[in-house]
Amino acid sequence: MNKIVKKNIKLILFFTLILPLTLGLLINNFGDIKFISLPLHSVLEASGGVIALILAGLFFLVDIDKQSFTVYHWSAIALLFMGIFDIFHASVPLGKTFIWLHSIAVFTGGIFFPLVWINDFKIKKFYWGVLVVSFLIATIIAISSIVFQEYVPAMLINGEFTFTANILNLIGGIGFFIAGIRFILKYKNEAILEDLFLAGHAFLFGVAGILFFISELWDMEWWFWHSLRLIAYLVSLIYMFKAYIDSRDKLKKYVDIINKNVIISSTNKKGIITNVSEAFSQISGYSKDELIGKSHNIVRHPDMPKELYKEIWKTIKSGENWLGEIKNIKKNREFYWVSVSISPTFGDSGIVNGYTAIRQDITDKKRIEEIAITDALTKLYNRGHFNNIFKREINRTKRDKKYFSFLIIDIDHFKQYNDTYGHQAGDDVLIKFAKSLKTSISRASDFAFRLGGEEFGMIFSDLNEEDSLEFASIVKENIEKLEIEHSKNSASKFITASMGLVVQNAKEIKSDDEIYKLADEALYEAKESGRNKVILYTKEKF
Ligand code: GH3
Ligand code: MG
Ligand code: MG
Repeated sequence: MNKIVKKNIKLILFFTLILPLTLGLLINNFGDIKFISLPLHSVLEASGGVIALILAGLFFLVDIDKQSFTVYHWSAIALLFMGIFDIFHASVPLGKTFIWLHSIAVFTGGIFFPLVWINDFKIKKFYWGVLVVSFLIATIIAISSIVFQEYVPAMLINGEFTFTANILNLIGGIGFFIAGIRFILKYKNEAILEDLFLAGHAFLFGVAGILFFISELWDMEWWFWHSLRLIAYLVSLIYMFKAYIDSRDKLKKYVDIINKNVIISSTNKKGIITNVSEAFSQISGYSKDELIGKSHNIVRHPDMPKELYKEIWKTIKSGENWLGEIKNIKKNREFYWVSVSISPTFGDSGIVNGYTAIRQDITDKKRIEEIAITDALTKLYNRGHFNNIFKREINRTKRDKKYFSFLIIDIDHFKQYNDTYGHQAGDDVLIKFAKSLKTSISRASDFAFRLGGEEFGMIFSDLNEEDSLEFASIVKENIEKLEIEHSKNSASKFITASMGLVVQNAKEIKSDDEIYKLADEALYEAKESGRNKVILYTKEKF
């Protein structure tokens, strides 16, 4: 057991059990001194009762979930019964009902308090209902006790408390001890300070119940255990207020942490930013003021296709959640990747009134992914990625029943270029060559790859043979336009490339391997027939 926990348990046992019990027994020696003051007594009991009710309400209130009954809820119900009976007790004249109301306060408290031994008890409905019903039951019993006094059992005979009075207080007292033990054990395990206070609270009530036995009306003993009860209430009340304020601070701290670390933004229905977290400001480079009132497009990266945003809007407008990865742009034009969850927010009437997006920075993950699919020299997609895209696009063509085009490109006499100008110069050509291929691409459905060495590939879709050939010619011309000198090239004085093109529609496609093979055959033909050419594969020619 933790040292502090051990010390605290000892302290609470001393101050709420041993000390009051000892003092109570000592005070018993002054048994004959009596102080009769109904008003003082009423003040003591009424204030205790009111505090008990406040405590009960607070216990119910501070629970965030409101889904199950914990030790605190059982305590609250016990306090509620005690509080109501004590308030009525304080308001009736001296007599058997006066002692009866006090005794059933102790009794019901002692009956309900030990319910704290029950572990979490699921209560999804009736959360507040239990409190209200308890309040009504207690009030009805208290009022009936006053109205139908003749049915109330005798409490005081010849200045002595009756058996009924004593047994009610004794059972109540024992109940409080049982509850107190539960709180001590709970505190021992979980070290939650509330439990320690509640243990002390229960013990003080227990001691008061026991001391009732040896006390007489108005004697010092009697006043003493009344004070113990009030102290118990006061200590708990002060503690509860502290806990309530702490829980508010805790919530504020959580909000702070979220604000600093989670990239959140909210927009109205038109996509105009209404709020952003600090983390959003930080990653985007814009201040909160610069963002609020602007369209969310402010962070839209030109690399992201328009169709993606159309899809996002379609999803969230229909009231659904959109999940995905988006490349965004910072104020300083750098990019960052986020994994986003965008959900609609709903107004009172259940109508979508805006959107909230929560993101995670996945720039590093994307960088690693990109490295894995990128050729280090040319920055084009590599062979591995080609294999994936090649299959994916062929399947898409089969589904969508459109055209699929594959262009294989091989630089002419590149070995001789290296031999003439050096390997480093050869590398520079490959870089420029790759850039040229990239600039030839304009549509999101077109791709360029370095397949290996001085061999490249391009995939494009939805272009028939004629349009594909035209596109390939543009690619070829763009390479020539680089005008990189190559004196040993038989086809030109500049760097050129030979290309084999295959265009197939959904019906013609047999397999990816076959398309590749046919493109290679066409490339061979281009080389054979003089280089710096595009040859389209056709059944007739081959
Ligand atoms: P052809 O016109 O028939 O295609 O002749 P070629 O010389 O281009 O073809 P071949 O396949 O005989 O030679 C390809 C050359 O490409 C061999 C190698 O020196 C060069 N090469 C391959 N990868 C690289 C590279 O990463 N950097 C450089 N500088 N050269 C490379
Ligand atoms: Mg080659
Ligand atoms: Mg070559």
